[in-house]
Order: sequence, then C-alpha cells, then structure tokens
Amino acid sequence: MKTNVREMFGSNVFNDAVMKERLPKAAYKRMKATIEAGAELDPEVADVVAHEMKEWAIEKGATHYTHWFQPLTGITAEKHDAFIDPQSDGTTLLRFSGKELIRGEPDASSFPSGGLRATFEARGYTAWDCTSPAFIKETPHSTILCIPTAFCSYKGEALDKKTPLLRSMQALDIQATRIVHLFGKESVKHVTTYAGPEQEYFLVDKAKFLKRKDLIFTGRTLFGAMPPKGQELDDHYFGTIPERILQFMDRFNQELWKLGISAKTQHNEVAPAQHEIAPIYDQNNIATDHNQLVMETAQRVAEELDLRCLLHEKPFAGINGSGKHNNWSMATDEGENLLDPGKSPHQNMQFLLILAAVMKAVDLHADLLRASASVPGNDHRLGANEAPPAIISVFLGEQLQDVVDQLIDSGEATSSIHGEEYDPGVNSLPTFEMDATDRNRTSPFAFTGNKFEFRMVGSTQSIADPNIVLNTIVADVLCQFADALEKSDDFKMTLHDLIKGTLIAHRRIIFNGDGYSEEWVKEAKRRGLPNISCMVDAIGALTRRKSIELFERHGVFNETELVSRAEIMYETYAKTINIEALTMIDMAKKQIVPATIKYQTSLAESINQIKTACSLDTSVQEKLLADITFNLKKMFSALGRLEEVTFRAEEMPDGEEQARYYHDVVFAAMNDLRTPADKLEMLVAKEDWPIPSYGDLIFEV
Ligand code: ADP
Ligand code: MG
Repeated sequence: MKTNVREMFGSNVFNDAVMKERLPKAAYKRMKATIEAGAELDPEVADVVAHEMKEWAIEKGATHYTHWFQPLTGITAEKHDAFIDPQSDGTTLLRFSGKELIRGEPDASSFPSGGLRATFEARGYTAWDCTSPAFIKETPHSTILCIPTAFCSYKGEALDKKTPLLRSMQALDIQATRIVHLFGKESVKHVTTYAGPEQEYFLVDKAKFLKRKDLIFTGRTLFGAMPPKGQELDDHYFGTIPERILQFMDRFNQELWKLGISAKTQHNEVAPAQHEIAPIYDQNNIATDHNQLVMETAQRVAEELDLRCLLHEKPFAGINGSGKHNNWSMATDEGENLLDPGKSPHQNMQFLLILAAVMKAVDLHADLLRASASVPGNDHRLGANEAPPAIISVFLGEQLQDVVDQLIDSGEATSSIHGEEYDPGVNSLPTFEMDATDRNRTSPFAFTGNKFEFRMVGSTQSIADPNIVLNTIVADVLCQFADALEKSDDFKMTLHDLIKGTLIAHRRIIFNGDGYSEEWVKEAKRRGLPNISCMVDAIGALTRRKSIELFERHGVFNETELVSRAEIMYETYAKTINIEALTMIDMAKKQIVPATIKYQTSLAESINQIKTACSLDTSVQEKLLADITFNLKKMFSALGRLEEVTFRAEEMPDGEEQARYYHDVVFAAMNDLRTPADKLEMLVAKEDWPIPSYGDLIFEV
C-alpha cells in the first residue's frame, strides 16, 4: 500500500493553511495577528472562526467537539459536546459559537487539585490556547473536534499543566527579548522556546499482557525472573525492525502525520521490545500537546494491532527502562537560535552570556529540575546504570569547555577548537569535518550543538513540567543579567565581567566525564551538588522559599499553586505504590502461591509413587521440593509483612509522611516479596507457572 504523506500530513488539523483558505480575509488576518502577538481573541472574530471550524469538522465527519485539556493527572482530559441545537419542528441545526470555542466550563471536580478546590466548588474553566491549532481525533468509532485549552479554577488558579507552561514561555520571552535588544537587535519582538521530545516505549503482545495483572493495573511487572538472555549482546539497539513492529510504526506514523505531528525518526532501543520515536521539534506548548498525542496514539494503534504499548519508565527489572529526552532551545521571531554558538563561539558574546545564564540557572535550581522529572516510575531509572544519575550536571563538550576554560583562566577567549578532518582511509569513502564535540550519553543535561538535552524526564511524563522549570529558571537569570546590563555605562565591560563571573561561580555544575561512574557520585558530593535519589525527597524543592519567590517573580505559579502541586505529587506517589502493593498481594495470594503449592503437591506425589513402585532414588525430587518449600515459606512470610505495612500505610493521613512511609517501608517490603517469588519461577515447571515470563513478553512479540 502506498502512503501519500504529503496529502496526509496535517489533514486533521485546523492549521494556518486551512484558516487561510476558509476564513474571510479580514477574519484570517486578525486571527493570525492574535496568534503571533499571543493576545486575546476578539469575540466577533471568534464567532467567525468557530463557524468555519465547525463546518470543516463536520465535513471530516465530526459530531462532537471537546475542550481538550491537561489536568494534573499528567494525561489529557476531554468532555464531548455534540454540535446539535434541536429546533421546534423536530429537526436540529448544528451550531458552534465563538463563546463555546473560547471558553468552556466542565464540572471536572474530580481531578486532583491538591486542595485548590473542595468538591462543592466544582467550577473550573477551560480557555482556548489559540497558539496550538485545533485538530480532529479520529478513532475507529468516533470523530471529535479537539480544541487545545488551558484549565483553571473559579478563583483563577491553574489546575493544569498548560497554563503554567504558557506563563513560563511568556516569562522567558520577556527576559530573553530584553537581552537580544541589548545586543542591538531591536526589531526582535519575541523569543520562543522550542522542545523536541524523544519518546521511548515498549511493545508487547496483547494476549500475554492481559495475563499479567501487574501490567494491567500498574503498567510494570512486579514479579519476573530474568530470562537467559537480556540486552547484553546489544543486538536489539538500532537492529532490523521486525515486520509486526514495522506494521505498528507505519500505522503510528500515519496517525501522527494526520495530526500534523512531524514523526521523523524511529528505531529499536537498547532493551528487547523497546523502541523510540522522535518528532521534529516545535514550539514548547505545541510540542507538549503533540507529545501527549504521541503517547495516546501509540496506545491506541498498538491495541488495534493486538499489541500493548508500555509507556512506564521501568516495565521490566534488569533491563533498560524508558525515558524522554527533552531537547530544548530558544529562538527569536527572526529565526535566530540563541543556543547556536556559530562557527567561533569564543567571539559570540551573546551566546556566551546565554550559556552562562543556563549554567547558573541549572546550578541554582538543580533541585527544581530534579523535581520536574519526578514520577513514581522514574525512581527505578534515575541513578541506576542506564539513565542519567540523579545528580544534575551540565555537559558542555570539548569546544565549549575550552572556551569556558580560556575565559576563566585568562579572562579572555581567543580561539575555538574545530572538528578534525575525518579520513576513513578508504578512497571510495568521503572525508569530512567532524563535529568539534563528541556526545556524552551519561549526562542529564547535555549541550548538543544548538540545544540542551534534558535527559532525566520519565517516559510517561508530560513534558510541561520540565519545560516550565527550564523556562522559568533561565528567565530569572536572564532578568538579572538584563538588569545589570541595562544599568551599565560600560556595556562591554559589564558583559565581560558578567560572563566571566558567572562561569567562575558556577563551574562546579559542569561535568564532561562518565555520569554513571562511582567516582562521579563522590566528586559531585565534594562539589556540593545535590544527589536526590527518590521522588519523595525531590518534591520538597517545589515549596522551598527560593522556589516560591522565583515562580512568583515571573508570574508562573503562586504559593498556593505550588503547595497544591507538591501535595498532589506526594499523593500520587502514595497511591501508585499502594496500587502496586495491592497488586502484588493479589498476584501472590491468588496466582503464585496456589500454583506453587500445586506443583509442590505433584512433586510430592511423584516422589511417593516412585518410592512405592520401585524404591528408586528420589533425592533430586526431594532436593527440589525442599528448595521450593524453603522459598515458598520465605515468600509467605514476606507476603504477610507486605499486607501488614500496606494496611498501616493506608491508615495514615495523606501527605509527605505517608509518601515517605510508602517509600521506606512498603516499597522495601515489595522487594522482599519479589525475591523469593522470582526464585520460585525458576524452580516451578514452566507450564505450571501462572503468568507469562519475561522471555515470553520481550522476546516473543
Ligand atoms: P539525537 O539526540 O538522538 O541525535 P537529534 O539530534 O536528531 O537526535 O534530535 C533529537 C530531537 O531534538 C529531535 O526531536 C529534534 O527535532 C530535536 N531538535 C533538534 N534541534 C532542536 C532545537 N534547536 N531545539 C529543540 N529541539 C531540537
Ligand atoms: Mg538525543
């Protein structure tokens, strides 16, 4: 089957081209100006846009519209409304007004609000983010017009991830524009942040998935012995993609392209059954919307093909988990990428100033960045030997490191290292100039040519959280720099001192070595860099005085919003571990223990039979029986303990203390139950083991 990508791309998006074609000229112009200025939309224009949007959607087969928003659950939410407007003669018109486009009022009182609203204060509003285009979500059984919106409470507090993201983009825009104006680029009107998230995921067979309650309820395996083969041969990474997976990727790409999502790169990842997709980067808020759609679409397409897509950060112990690399940059409306060092970074003072600002921001607010990558699943990755460590550091690479060193050592940078000529030593192969800088896969925050790549983010997460933090912390430092430079009578001198002083003060954040090594953990400790290994310890950063002041200074969050978000995070952690513990108890009691006893009984019977029949040697069977009995006993006592501590945890009041108890006590008890159970899996016959093994799940997709 041939795919017409050109025709397909963006076909379900009410994008600029569609508006240009369908809207009256004057309305189109005003709509476009509103989007570009990031201003409020005139109600009259809204009516015209709404009408055309509805007509377009109906032509595509849509029956309903929805304000599509991103509550604090981290996933998206929608409430569908039909276009119908019944008439007195028994027929109906199809209507959609400007008011309905711009504003919605879903009841939505059951979303987590961290105390921002009581259930009786149910009002919440959704407001159209017209910088992110409306689109049609087409599934086998429905066609819905989706309007990307922000979601806030009756009192105006943000109840979602979109509102603070937009606020943070605005904060960075204001401060970065001040900076470029100081460099003489007064025609610049806006600086926008961009993100390109690389998304990792696993695909497993649906029938096997459905036999595992842990996957169904928690998204990860809670039991499972390692198969004889894991990822040690590195034969999956970038390997040839099997036909069934190619079929998935093909469908997946097509669905994304229809939504105007520029799915570009796909490959097999390190772990068996693990894959990655990366779109081309986009404006921060659009990239965030798109990443949500990428996750949603992956799950839907998998389902259609009798597969299941696992987005969890650590679906399988013992092999790599999944993350999301958040590539981040900022550029002016004239197209200049402020993170592009150019050919001679040592002479690019604007770049060096911005680089210094990012370093300072990351050093001062490493705790916030760490908190922004905190979801329960990510605790299994950060600090393990696969994902970046839980310590935040910045990788600059050889070229920039050299410029920074020159500036620090002699106050001036006079040269930039250039990539060497690559000569493969074969006449038929081309020679070319290599990059001036190698890559470093172990750094959590790496400079990669013309962008920073924040690699700590978890695979299930909305990228709003890390980008809110990144935008705000960088805006804050740029604000300090702009203040100093605007006041100065000697711009050059002040600029020089700012860059040099900042690099010296924050050089401890730079680390170009192996982030997975033991030495780095020690070295980071010596440098005083925080190493926050679990989510429960990370959450507190949100409500530190310095963080509250930072976010309030730039109008991104107020104190109440931050406190509520921290509360939701503690609650989410506790609830997640609770579900995992209950699932383990359930599987242990109803599946693993009974299966083991059955096998044990059959072994005992066979011993008896062999003995009675021919009094032969049964020492092997007896040894096996003893091993099984030993582990079963251990398992049973661990199960009792897990039940006891889970019960105790449930009885505790919500909040930090409860989350900590889940982490320190319940989570530890879960591991104690898993160890003997996994040993039993290796002792009991395969056909008697009640759930598919790791081998079945990841090698037989
Ligand atoms: P990798 O890091 O795996 O080599 P790429 O360099 O192709 O992959 O980039 C990965 C992601 O970074 C892609 O989504 C890409 O579009 C995005 N990206 C590239 N340039 C920028 C930029 N200036 N700002 C933000 N993201 C970018
Ligand atoms: Mg990358």
